[in-house]
Amino acid sequence: MDSIQSKPTLKLAKSPLVNQKSIIEEETKSSSKLDSVALDEFAEENLNDSNYGSISEGTDSMLAQKVPYLTCALSTHSTPKSPLDLNLYSAVLDNDTVLCKDLLTQIPKPDINTRWENDNTLLHLAAEKGFLKICELLLDYSDTSQLNSYNNTSSQPLHLACKENHLQIVQLFIRSGSDINSTDGLGNTPLHIATLFGHNKLVSWIITKGPNILIKNKAGKTAEDFADNEILTIFHKYLKRTVVIAGPSLTDNHRLQAIRTKHKMNMENPLPQDFVVLKELGKGSFGEVFLVLKQDVSQLYAMKVLQKDKILKQNLVKYAVTERNVLSYVKHPFIVTLKYALQTSEKLFLVLDYCPGGDLASHLTKDKKFTEYRARIYICEIILALEELHKRDVIYRDLKPDNIVLDADGHAILTDFGLSKEKVYDNYTANSFCGSLAYLAPEIIRRQGHGKALDWYLLGVVLYEMIVGNPPYFSSNKNELLHNIQRGKLKVPSSLSTEVKDLIKELLQRDPSKRLGAHKDAEEIKKHPFFNGIDWDVVLRKELSPPKVPLPEVPKTGIPAEKIYGMFFTAEYNKISGWTFVSE
Ligand code: ADP
Ligand code: MG
Repeated sequence: MDSIQSKPTLKLAKSPLVNQKSIIEEETKSSSKLDSVALDEFAEENLNDSNYGSISEGTDSMLAQKVPYLTCALSTHSTPKSPLDLNLYSAVLDNDTVLCKDLLTQIPKPDINTRWENDNTLLHLAAEKGFLKICELLLDYSDTSQLNSYNNTSSQPLHLACKENHLQIVQLFIRSGSDINSTDGLGNTPLHIATLFGHNKLVSWIITKGPNILIKNKAGKTAEDFADNEILTIFHKYLKRTVVIAGPSLTDNHRLQAIRTKHKMNMENPLPQDFVVLKELGKGSFGEVFLVLKQDVSQLYAMKVLQKDKILKQNLVKYAVTERNVLSYVKHPFIVTLKYALQTSEKLFLVLDYCPGGDLASHLTKDKKFTEYRARIYICEIILALEELHKRDVIYRDLKPDNIVLDADGHAILTDFGLSKEKVYDNYTANSFCGSLAYLAPEIIRRQGHGKALDWYLLGVVLYEMIVGNPPYFSSNKNELLHNIQRGKLKVPSSLSTEVKDLIKELLQRDPSKRLGAHKDAEEIKKHPFFNGIDWDVVLRKELSPPKVPLPEVPKTGIPAEKIYGMFFTAEYNKISGWTFVSE
């Protein structure tokens, strides 16, 4: 690619193309739907902003479109484009799927990641124009994530498809891993954009996917603030039945990090086979976690392996992608660190820092219960982890002893982001109820929608289990357990300290709006008398001393790799874009 790009450039003869350009500009203008939308003041500002200007405007695309076989340095762009790139560009703009596919399968291939006017990728261009098949092709053949790429107005292809009301393309992008809560340069999410432009059907669809409707754009408006009466009805109808999920909202910092990550991604990607599998560490419903050794640096990691067919079948891709995304930008002493995210045609891999102390569920099985002193250390550490997530508008939602692992010094670390939290909700009446039943909050059972306070309820459950030995309201009868969580009397052993009893009661408050933490989040909980004498900076520096736990031996031999990795191909089919990640 590089050698092609550095070829000498040719000058274009512009004159015959001028008319063509103005015709296309006219078409672009008349296809704009701006006029028909009733807008408030801010909306109008938004629309006038260049963020919502059509990407089809501009001379360069028109010239290149009609002169596909030239190597040229277009007037406003310093990066020369190769003939192949121009060919592909032209095929995309002509919606020529046959030529597009030919070009993408030939060798050498054009550079699918080339940027065009306004820093748009080809996916941006196809998304805006509504070329579904082209979008599918580009996703099939792109080797890095185009979905998460931003143009010079900080819009992803998803945002452009939303603006232009291309429902099927929006569906394709979300299915392929686009973040439904991603924000553009104005801080607008797909839901903001669809609402703002009055695309009722699109709003209906997006809202069923559980976006975070609480996200405010840079003018402090939620999507609902832009809704006309018709769309308001859609909001109300669905939200009565739909859980509000606060996913990660991209701040500028996150975005910067995403860009840096992308940069790094191209530099060095280890392959699954670079890791020797030593033993199984744990098993959930969808993932298996193995202890692995990265041979070149002799470093141990925990590798979570997800089977694509399973998660595709159950439509869980976006939850896996959420897990990968959250872990890629959250760095915290009490949250597991993601080192790499890799994939083969059959599986997805998350390579995490290894926490050799085991999970709290196994410690509770062994020790039955912990002293208040020991439980307080873990709880303090988890509070800081949850505080960090909440600051980033992420709800953990799956707090339970199995998902808290201990590092070599016995400190508590949160692991398991994304997948399992959703599977509890989605398979409400099905299998995923098992195992997690005791950790359902009343608002989840009632399906009334939930927010950050859910995590504080679950913190109460974990605290209770640590010092009592089983979760609150526990019964081996499912229906009784569900009933008790909603209406049963909370039984707290009288032998516990007054402080811990009070904290448990406050955290297990059934009404989320009255729960401790409901108003000022972690700040409120940290002030509870159970934590008197705790210096939270000391906690953050990992200077509390949890009990030392025995560390397991590292096996000397590995498990045959084919068993774990499946086929080694990073095949072009089944590819989940935006997955690959290398930590800085
Ligand atoms: P699932 O989503 O299937 O529940 P988890 O991410 O919770 O998968 O991992 C399953 C189990 O693997 C955990 O309960 C824990 O015992 C173990 N595990 C997970 N992450 C790590 C880690 N970083 N270090 C050590 N063990 C881990
Ligand atoms: Mg788990």
